[in-house]
Amino acid sequence: MSSIFNEKLIFPQENGKDVELLVNGDEFYSRYETIDGYTAIYDSDIGEFCFAEKVHGCLVSSRITIDRKPPKRIKRHLRENSDIRRKKFDSRFTLMQPELSPVLPFDTLRTFGPNNGLLNGRRVSMGKVIGLTIIVEFADVKSAVTKADVESMLNDDSYSSHGNHCSVREYFSNMSNGELDYANDVLGPITLPKNRQFYVNRPFFADVLNEIVAQGIELSRYDSLGEGVIDAISFMYAGRTLYQGWLWPHNHTLDWSSNGYSSNFYQISSLGLDTDGLSIGTFCHESGHMLCRFPDLYDYGKRDGDFQKSAGMGRYCLMSSGNHLDSGKTPSSISAYLRDLAGWPKRVKVNSPKKYEIEHGDYSSVYIYETDELNEYYLIENRHTKGLDSHLPSSGIAVYHCDTLGSNEHQGGTPTAHYQCGLLQADGHLDLERNQNTGDSGDFFDDVQGIALSHDSVPSTLLWDGSDSGLSIKNISKSEEKMTFEVVEN
Ligand SMILES: [Zn+2]
Repeated sequence: MSSIFNEKLIFPQENGKDVELLVNGDEFYSRYETIDGYTAIYDSDIGEFCFAEKVHGCLVSSRITIDRKPPKRIKRHLRENSDIRRKKFDSRFTLMQPELSPVLPFDTLRTFGPNNGLLNGRRVSMGKVIGLTIIVEFADVKSAVTKADVESMLNDDSYSSHGNHCSVREYFSNMSNGELDYANDVLGPITLPKNRQFYVNRPFFADVLNEIVAQGIELSRYDSLGEGVIDAISFMYAGRTLYQGWLWPHNHTLDWSSNGYSSNFYQISSLGLDTDGLSIGTFCHESGHMLCRFPDLYDYGKRDGDFQKSAGMGRYCLMSSGNHLDSGKTPSSISAYLRDLAGWPKRVKVNSPKKYEIEHGDYSSVYIYETDELNEYYLIENRHTKGLDSHLPSSGIAVYHCDTLGSNEHQGGTPTAHYQCGLLQADGHLDLERNQNTGDSGDFFDDVQGIALSHDSVPSTLLWDGSDSGLSIKNISKSEEKMTFEVVEN
């Protein structure tokens, strides 16, 4: 899932000029505001954004387009009542999860990992995987980005075009320590018969796949496990990202089959206006769901019983909001928690009291402090502001409190409702849980003399049930590519 927090974005309109709006939300539920704070709603009868007004708690179009002066009766920052928001979210979520919704409570699906911390579903996170990426154009919007541009961004070695840190293939090869080789064939463009706005409300996925098959492709190439299932389908559509309906970048299941092969998960994102807009961040984030079944590590803030928003892992993981760093061109690394769940690195146990050395960018190992609970443990990682972590707000040693049974929807930190991966923020401010920011310079441990973490430090290393985990860390060196810390007896 791909979330937007108060970002200024440009929207095309069928019968009007492009407009700039502030957007909050995701593919399930979103709200748009004009720059001066009036809630806007796309009125498909008029083909333009109109001022919203509230009727019985529900936002409806006033039929007054936002290029005009808002009438006095319309207030700024209108929001729908929470039960209506929840119903809309739930119905869209159910619609987009046809295969999974009967099995799982959908309200906790994407931040809760029912499968040992991961989402349910087929995983292809090891070995050689060839994804199928299809470029899609509309009757009214053609792409200025070529197939060769996309092929390079997805597959090239030493890729650095348009400011990107690496290609998608290099990103996953690096993160998985060479365990996952994810390349993509790029096909198309397929030109759809109608204008782009039509496809906001009507998915084109099956039509495009049928067209690709009609052109004659060998689907067996895209089934790395030999199960008759296509591993990874990515649609990239022409033009800038449209944060509306089915064109909102997302990843879901798709019920489609042909010649003995069926689809499973797909993702969709845009190509951007031109090659300057090409960025790997969101493609990598959605691929993290699709290939590895990683859950989101941010907080949707709109689930049953938990309408409070928090920042989850903030900018510190690709699967939180780290995919947006440097305009998506240098997404942050995948935090040790998820790399470990994917089974990519080897585990280095740090339960014995001694001094340990830990290196930034060594994705071949994770440092783990085990507790008596199998599902609950601590991971320690050196996140120096270099490489994929260049744009992090903090530099130093990160300590994560992990519980594969938790959910990053739950910021409360109680025994029964807490994150599945929470950063023990060194400054003790809990800014991520309190939704104060998505990370700041005080979050990692850097140059600490004496005890940095223990059962009675702030933050502490107490387990979620309040008992002592036994983890105490002292003498953390200055933030460098190679750092040291000492695990000591409690
Ligand atoms: Zn996501």
